[in-house]
Amino acid sequence: MAHLIGKLIIKGDIEVKTGMRIGGTTTGLKIGGVDLNVITDPLGKPYIPGSSLKGKLRTLLERKEKVEWNKKDKQGNPIGHECDTEEKYQKCAVCKIFGILGSQKISSPTLTRLIVRDAYLDESSITEEMKKNLELEWTEVKFETAINRITGTALGGSLRQAERVPAGACFKECELIFSIYDEKDIDLVKKVFEAIDLLNDDYLGGMGSRGYGKVEFKDIKVFWNKAQDYENGTTELKEERKINGNWTTPAEIVKNFEEIKKNLT
Ligand SMILES: [Zn+2]
Repeated sequence: MAHLIGKLIIKGDIEVKTGMRIGGTTTGLKIGGVDLNVITDPLGKPYIPGSSLKGKLRTLLERKEKVEWNKKDKQGNPIGHECDTEEKYQKCAVCKIFGILGSQKISSPTLTRLIVRDAYLDESSITEEMKKNLELEWTEVKFETAINRITGTALGGSLRQAERVPAGACFKECELIFSIYDEKDIDLVKKVFEAIDLLNDDYLGGMGSRGYGKVEFKDIKVFWNKAQDYENGTTELKEERKINGNWTTPAEIVKNFEEIKKNLT
């Protein structure tokens, strides 16, 4: 059985650089006459579900780590990767970080090391000036045409209204938690920051190929709560307990990871 060595608490802000669309449920219920709504919290404000962010980071890392896309949907299309043997799992950063669903094929404990929390909108990031140009309270509405991919022409009657979180919106203090069960897990943390850096050059949500969803994950703070800290009640995330110094971007953290790692004692 694996024992907890400690937890890394990673906090950062996600700033929306180009309008972002993380779709809500398609219940047919149109809000504000919009065809494609964004997902909102119970107060009607857009948020970033932890599952969306985690799924995106996983996909980006799967592509970078060149793992096999052996997970298929019902139609047999490859949709991702999941290790199917103990031997592969032991060497797989992706499955160790993000976890496995069908773990019955693997004998060692398949612990999900990374937790990604939902991230909420910082209301003050939507300024009064911005609000004047928004169609809805927190969001903008764009007309989007569905394009026939073969002819390149607009499909008849295909004009849809898509809701987006506007550029400039900020989701403050997004939180990722990485549990360390083994000394070897520490190097997996570096890969989480590689994935975040990849995200900054990719997109979050839908319609990325149309320019939607550029985000910047920034102002990162990393804290280290070892198992002992939970016993002593010394887990408060005070500024002086930050372990990443003045390196606040994912690239800086990757570049200086060996130095930062020394603080994990
Ligand atoms: Zn794997």
